[in-house]
Amino acid sequence: MLCLGIESTAHTFSCAVIEKKGTNGKILSDVRKIYKPSEGEGIHPREASRHHAENSPQVLSECLEKACVKISDLDMVSYAAGPGLGPCLRIGAVVARSLASYYNIPIYPVNHALGHIELGKMLTGARDPLVLLVSGGHTMILAFLGKKWRVFGETLDITLGQLLDQIGRHAGFASPCGSKIEELASRSSKYEPLPYVVKGNDVSFSGLFSATKRIMPKGLESACFSLQETAFSMMGEAVERALSFTGKKEFLIVGGVAANKRLSEILQSICKRHNCKFFVSPKEYAGDCGSQISWVGLLESSKKAGAKLENTFVRQSWRIDSVEILY
Ligand code: AMP
Ligand code: MG
Repeated sequence: MLCLGIESTAHTFSCAVIEKKGTNGKILSDVRKIYKPSEGEGIHPREASRHHAENSPQVLSECLEKACVKISDLDMVSYAAGPGLGPCLRIGAVVARSLASYYNIPIYPVNHALGHIELGKMLTGARDPLVLLVSGGHTMILAFLGKKWRVFGETLDITLGQLLDQIGRHAGFASPCGSKIEELASRSSKYEPLPYVVKGNDVSFSGLFSATKRIMPKGLESACFSLQETAFSMMGEAVERALSFTGKKEFLIVGGVAANKRLSEILQSICKRHNCKFFVSPKEYAGDCGSQISWVGLLESSKKAGAKLENTFVRQSWRIDSVEILY
């Protein structure tokens, strides 16, 4: 089975082709174009969607060329139907719908968060992990139980990715800023006290965001170091409690923030204490990409038919814990 997956939930427009044989998937191509707001600014949904619309023909043809397939070779197409920014989601849906109707191939609307998790499992070999999904749009601790991914903790306000990006933008960098914050943090070991907010098994980052802005004039490197230490320790506490509660013997980090080495270091040491196998999504596939969407489409196609065209809409606030998993 050959599936074209289309991702367009936020800053990234990406197309990827995966070939599935039995239970194995092989990524044949994954092409991305990322919308970059100007320095100090966040994603402007209308501008991002314009970026996606303008770049979609080139990304699609480059993706097919790299995979050495023609559109007529495709068995199906899948697209990220949510959650995400409405104007951006609609571009991916329109491209997928056009291909499906013109070439008469099945179409699968896919949950974006599920894409992060399933591709992470496929690439690392994790089978039944407790998952930490940390990205621009999500901060969630999840485990699979009774046909659904259940949430064992999440952010009560902004996501971990937003926290890092907003601090970076406040310092005048261009978004996304996670890797810049990581680099600055690695040059300091001076901890400035910051608010640490874990409520039950949920985390809250808005107070940490305001307090970090206040200490930035004292030194950017120490502010980034203190921010990372505080935010990642909060995540560590919530993950450790979820590990104890669920008793999972595998742990997987997915989402763009999974690229951060210090976050992995903290969580790896927690896993060691719990005799739990640690997995992290490969950096190249940690952030948003078409492969995530293609792979979930392929998994779903083993258990259900494609959607009717009139049901291929987008859902901006489509929570992963409302999706019933059939495969
Ligand atoms: P996604 O929404 O999954 O594409 O992830 C994007 C988020 O990942 C953005 O908020 C980035 O700032 C963040 N990110 C990317 N690389 C790193 C890194 N090395 N450390 C922390 N955050 C990162
Ligand atoms: Mg994402």
